[in-house]
Amino acid sequence: MAGSPVPELDESLRLAADEIGAVAAGRVALREPLAPFTSFRVGGPAGVLVEPRDEKDLEVAGAVVARLGLDVLILGRGTNVLIGDHGFPGVVIRIGKGFEWIRAAGEDGVEAGGGANLPQVANWARRRSLAGMEFSVAIPATVGGGVAMNAGAHGSSLSEVLESARVCYLNEGRTLELSVDELQMGYRRTALGPGRLVCSARFRLQPGEPAEIAARMEKYRSHRSETQPSEAPNAGSTFRNPPGQSAGSLIEAAGLKGYRVAGAEVSGKHANFFFARPGALAQDVFDLMVFVQSEVQKAFGVTLIPEVRIIGFFEGADALRTSA
Ligand SMILES: Cc1cc2nc3c(=O)[nH]c(=O)nc-3n(C[C@H](O)[C@H](O)[C@H](O)COP(=O)(O)OP(=O)(O)OC[C@H]3O[C@@H](n4cnc5c(N)ncnc54)[C@H](O)[C@@H]3O)c2cc1C
Repeated sequence: MAGSPVPELDESLRLAADEIGAVAAGRVALREPLAPFTSFRVGGPAGVLVEPRDEKDLEVAGAVVARLGLDVLILGRGTNVLIGDHGFPGVVIRIGKGFEWIRAAGEDGVEAGGGANLPQVANWARRRSLAGMEFSVAIPATVGGGVAMNAGAHGSSLSEVLESARVCYLNEGRTLELSVDELQMGYRRTALGPGRLVCSARFRLQPGEPAEIAARMEKYRSHRSETQPSEAPNAGSTFRNPPGQSAGSLIEAAGLKGYRVAGAEVSGKHANFFFARPGALAQDVFDLMVFVQSEVQKAFGVTLIPEVRIIGFFEGADALRTSA
């Protein structure tokens, strides 16, 4: 979390936009609103938004960011971020077109760009009778965001099928192929720090029976539509499950289903899903997280740690505990 609201557009951000825009093939924009690029649909603009077309664009952006000493944020599909109402006072690199490819990696593998849609990768594997990625069929992530978060569902996570990821170290101008061990993947986490961008990932799968793969996918999809709400913008699970417990059950047991702070609301269907209702501010969602965290702490002595990544400035930022 940054310590203060975004000031007027800094001269170094203008310079960064000019320098990156002069060379990069992808789109570069100043003060681009980020809310449409997130599933919460709230939050302010990027100082500079870069949508790289290829790895060369990343090299260019990385060199400029490093020289000017700017903060950098990597964005995939924005399904696990809460960006403050003042936005992000640095360079946002949004991975999409140019990084959306999917291809075979040997007999039983698949490789995909960091911007590829995770469910599309799972479906690509199904069409080739490759099993192992069914659990990810309804996680609305990019491959890069999924690897960075070690996304998972139904008792499995990407670290179980990931072989390696190609990671671009933006500030250092180098790219390395990292194994699961090197990525230090744990429950909804990796060791990837700021400026470490997953350009692509390679998954190792096993031959499977197409009908069985499709049946498992269907079971996971229908379980999701029965248990998860979708009527308003949200970011999936707001808090991580504490060891051996369910964050949603704790929030529900604290009597907080349907609880509202201004435009933000705890879902009445699944208490770990928080909605940003029309007109909501990111600050409302943040304040709701603070309230829920403190109520669950009071009721059960358990500190819920956010799964959603909190980005930018929030009033009362210190009131939310973000790590164990
Ligand atoms: C309806 C709904 C259901 C969900 N269900 C699940 C679920 O079942 N399981 C689950 O694990 N999650 C779930 N999520 C959360 C979310 O989809 C995952 O955390 C996902 O991995 C985020 O991917 P993204 O591309 O949207 O990343 P973003 O939200 O854009 O970014 C998330 C984090 O990853 C970083 N990041 C993004 N792309 C890259 C990259 N290329 N390289 C390096 N870092 C990167 C960002 O900087 C940020 O810190 C759900 C979300 C929603 C809205």
